[in-house]
Amino acid sequence: MVVVSNSLTAVAAHRERIAELVGVTGTAELPVADCLGLVLALDLVAPVALPPFDNSAMDGYAVRAADVAAVPVALPVTDDIPAGRAASTPLEPGTAQRIMTGAPLPAGADAVVQVEWTDGGTSSVRVDRGVPAGANVRRAADDVAVGTTVLVAGTVLGPAQLGLAAALGFGSLPVRRRPRVLVLSTGSELVGPGEVLAPGQIYESNGVMLAAAVREAGGEAELLRFVPDDVAAFRAAVEPRLAAFDLLLTSGGVSAGAYEVVKDAFTGRGVEFTRVAMQPGGPQGAGRYLGVAVATLPGNPVSAQVSFEVFIRPALRAAMGHAVVQRPTVVAKLSSPLTSPAGRTQFRRGRYDPASGQVVTPVGGPGSHLLSALALSDCLIEVPEDVTELAAGADVLVRFLH
Ligand code: AMP
Ligand code: MG
Repeated sequence: MVVVSNSLTAVAAHRERIAELVGVTGTAELPVADCLGLVLALDLVAPVALPPFDNSAMDGYAVRAADVAAVPVALPVTDDIPAGRAASTPLEPGTAQRIMTGAPLPAGADAVVQVEWTDGGTSSVRVDRGVPAGANVRRAADDVAVGTTVLVAGTVLGPAQLGLAAALGFGSLPVRRRPRVLVLSTGSELVGPGEVLAPGQIYESNGVMLAAAVREAGGEAELLRFVPDDVAAFRAAVEPRLAAFDLLLTSGGVSAGAYEVVKDAFTGRGVEFTRVAMQPGGPQGAGRYLGVAVATLPGNPVSAQVSFEVFIRPALRAAMGHAVVQRPTVVAKLSSPLTSPAGRTQFRRGRYDPASGQVVTPVGGPGSHLLSALALSDCLIEVPEDVTELAAGADVLVRFLH
């Protein structure tokens, strides 16, 4: 752990604290269609083979390869096998059965001649080109044998993994469930989007942003309507809802001013407030209230969102069982000089351009109210605590926001 100063908490220490508080979510059996992006909790063993039976890889005619060794040859067509139906009769020597892609191969057949190599006849077919035994036949268990472990616990379920599970007949899967996060903004100056602003008021933006960030990280978010800087109102909003959640995520009301509602409501009640050695996002709080994990983010929108990226997202990813909890990073060249406060990790917003030789350009200044600059950014530029100045062309660590 990096000790930055007696009064500041290191970024890594606060990150660990939040991850420890959030912990891991339990296992749930969820419908396959709801499992995208979730982590498989148990090994998945194939209850059926894939394919489950020998079937045709082509639209054409099921034959014995020996019967089409000399071509052209005419064969009587004795059956018609669409996908979804089994052949009603075995294939007799010297005959053909019309067969569609995916339909079960009739007993006695050892190859399929594609329709393009025939005259397409329905009562009798002329075969113009021969095929070897096994041609255009997909054998049972070619892909997966019964009892094979197809996906191991810990696998992140993407489209292909969900497709495989469905192909094996799984209607639901054992997964690590999504953490449930209650998002609450605070501030007497806040007004809901769509309402009329009175002097001194601003539109509330952190709630929508943080709830979206929770969902993007894979969690479930419930956005409570914001509360004014009033401890009683804050508690009344939080307490009845809290037990249903894994994490309460607040924004605002934690800095050094008066009317710091989150601080006032939680100080001495299981939540500790600290200053983390970072810019933006210094004022942070973490703990447990009524048994539920609490993380309190600062109110400035950029501080809130950067804090989410640095502390909350990795904790939610870990809670869901992801092995990789951090966003991908690259080292890039800074397009223009930067200054950064001593003793604090600075997270500047930037745009990364891989085309122009891996250059990153800072977007907007360090101000934590510059929300439009954040919205134009695709990465954070991490300037270490001990670095106060960087020249254009310096190597910097870039952490993607996607
Ligand atoms: P605070 O941490 O409550 O002192 O808030 C710091 C700054 O962020 C103030 O300018 C607030 O108006 C602003 N702010 C706090 N919460 C929100 C929010 N939910 N949406 C937009 N701005 C906010
Ligand atoms: Mg406030």
